[in-house]
Amino acid sequence: MEYFKQIIVDAGKEMIKRSLTVATWGNLSVRDPESGYIVVTPSGMDYQTSVPDDMVVFDRNGSMIEGKRRPSIEKDLHIMIYQQRPDVNAIIHTHPIYSTVFAVTRQGIPAITEEFAQVVGYSVKCAEHALPGTKELAEHAVRALGKERAVLLASHGTVCVGPDMETVFKISDILEKTAQILILSKNIGTPRIISKEDVKVMQDFLKTGYGQR
Ligand SMILES: [Zn+2]
Repeated sequence: MEYFKQIIVDAGKEMIKRSLTVATWGNLSVRDPESGYIVVTPSGMDYQTSVPDDMVVFDRNGSMIEGKRRPSIEKDLHIMIYQQRPDVNAIIHTHPIYSTVFAVTRQGIPAITEEFAQVVGYSVKCAEHALPGTKELAEHAVRALGKERAVLLASHGTVCVGPDMETVFKISDILEKTAQILILSKNIGTPRIISKEDVKVMQDFLKTGYGQR
């Protein structure tokens, strides 16, 4: 599991570098698709000084199988998402400013830009409120996430999911940028939401028609 633990160590540093969270807040995980084992960050550890040995490993049923540290209090959130979403192998939970503006006003973020439509999806919902670290928070988040690639946690922050850590960072960046655009655009007019049909066309285009091949 060393390879997957190192992914988390590097991603934790990246999260701080990108100002997605402050101090020890937020948490990350990856799943090894072969064994189904899930590597989660420890609770309240400094991302800058964390090493692979600090990480905590769970099996697919949520039993802890390795680790010297206490796991993140949101471990159930991570484990439950993996159980519901076979397409997901990386998750980050952060507290970025503009997305959290929507989380505290308990509003979702719809597809208003083509990059959001292509990379994130049709709409990101805000989950019902629950206290941090509870099973309820995990259940509400999984329900509101559905088949999308991100969800907002009420009065709290965001959760982004994807097939690998690199994609999840991309989703997180675009979600945050879109939240910022949505707030700014409301100041000068009415942002238009891209239709479900157009979102589908753009996603298909990204898969088949974009880039060098
Ligand atoms: Zn949090």
